[in-house]
Amino acid sequence: MNIYGQTIAMLENYFKSFGENPAKAKIVFKALYREKITSFMDIKSLSLPIKSKLQKDFTQQQIELITEVNGQDACKYLFRLADGHTIETVLMKHDYGNGLCVSTQVGCNMNCIFCESGKLKKVRNVETHEMVGQLLYIMDILQLPVSHVVLMGIGEPFDNYEHVMDFIDIITDPLGIGIATRHVTISTSGITPKMLEYAKRETLNSLAVSLHAPNDELRSKLMPINKKYPIKGLVNAARIYTQNSNKKVTFAYIMIKNVNDSDDCALELAELLKGINCYVNLIPYNKTHSTHYEPSDKERISKFFDILKKHNINVTVRRKFGDKMNAACGQLRSDYNNTM
Ligand code: SAH
Repeated sequence: MNIYGQTIAMLENYFKSFGENPAKAKIVFKALYREKITSFMDIKSLSLPIKSKLQKDFTQQQIELITEVNGQDACKYLFRLADGHTIETVLMKHDYGNGLCVSTQVGCNMNCIFCESGKLKKVRNVETHEMVGQLLYIMDILQLPVSHVVLMGIGEPFDNYEHVMDFIDIITDPLGIGIATRHVTISTSGITPKMLEYAKRETLNSLAVSLHAPNDELRSKLMPINKKYPIKGLVNAARIYTQNSNKKVTFAYIMIKNVNDSDDCALELAELLKGINCYVNLIPYNKTHSTHYEPSDKERISKFFDILKKHNINVTVRRKFGDKMNAACGQLRSDYNNTM
């Protein structure tokens, strides 16, 4: 087993399982994430037999960097996992700090028609330690500070629920890396039952819902998951999240020319989200080589924005990240696979 997949609670159970004091879990956790030990033998306050047992039971193997592309506002990394599969991670440089966009699955089964990630079908879930590994590689090996983590890389986080929750517990624990709870954003295409399960958790992170359409007819065409979990239930799950967390939910809305960007769509969206504690984030579509979609014009986005504003919806337009370097979800990995 890889040690970077262990939450403190898991380590406590591990120590209990052979009659040891569970308080040792915190010593190990601190040694890993604060002291950055590279061998269990370097943990000073543990006895030799315990260190030897840790060494026998766990590995510290890290993921491997294959290639990186550095741009002005974003850097992209392609990693190889132990079984040879590849995942990508994007570092986004904001004026408030660096945000890391982490992949949660190898490929994706959501099949959204505009998205490059879904072109490579899901092979398996990304393990907890491989998600932690993406963050550790950037922070420790490349020595780049990270203050925000967004689960907006390849994959659907709520289709890998347990590993994603463990990942969040590990990176937000104040004894370790200590990323602020509100600085972790889960983005979902709308797995409604998992959103409802998540909304019951004691500590809630920021949540983004990839909405992209204001009604079932259009959304089901763009995002097949909508046929299983229609829009009303999805928006209701988002509402429950806002009530339980006391936070706004973000609805991401990609602006695709002549597809979902009409005045009628804006009006319908305003009606759908009326009374919900939310932001709408309008995102100019990032053109990919395998679709024929175009981004909406600036004027169209601006008109759409004004309609939402007029109906008292909080709305922002996301600045485009790394569009020149294919930073949109899944593009580096798909380019890499295409050249192999
Ligand atoms: N599966 C989750 C996590 C992926 S997040 C989800 O759907 O939310 C990746 C975000 O990028 C999603 O909002 C997705 O809809 C969006 N996206 C995918 N392809 C895009 C493109 N070509 N241009 C702009 N945004 C895109």
